[in-house]
Amino acid sequence: MKHMGIYEQRYHKKTGGAAQKKYYENNRESEKARRREYAKKRRLTVLSHYSGLIPFCCCCGEKEVKFLALDHIKGGGNIHRKEIAGGEMGGNMYQWIIKNDFPEGFQILCHNCNAAKGYYGECPHKISII
Ligand SMILES: [Zn+2]
Ligand SMILES: [Zn+2]
Repeated sequence: MKHMGIYEQRYHKKTGGAAQKKYYENNRESEKARRREYAKKRRLTVLSHYSGLIPFCCCCGEKEVKFLALDHIKGGGNIHRKEIAGGEMGGNMYQWIIKNDFPEGFQILCHNCNAAKGYYGECPHKISII
């Protein structure tokens, strides 16, 4: 009986090593996927908060989430980003917003409108309306 125990222990140790390595590799992949999924959810939570259940660009109405981004209404986004980047959040706006309980002063814009606002001060969509 005692003999059997030692044999079993060795057996398990041997196969356990390989299985453990495989488990670790599998886990590393799923861990990455889990983090990606979490980041996506976090982004969507923030976008919906400043927009609607289905987030959209507040300038042109674009609804493709992949085109949408958080915009600092009064500008100064870069300064703000720098502040965040220097902080504990490692530059993650979405994480920062959630941690700070969704502060005011943000809106959702698509990348087009956001970039136009950055370059020209105002998006051409808005200028054409005026
Ligand atoms: Zn837009
Ligand atoms: Zn626009």
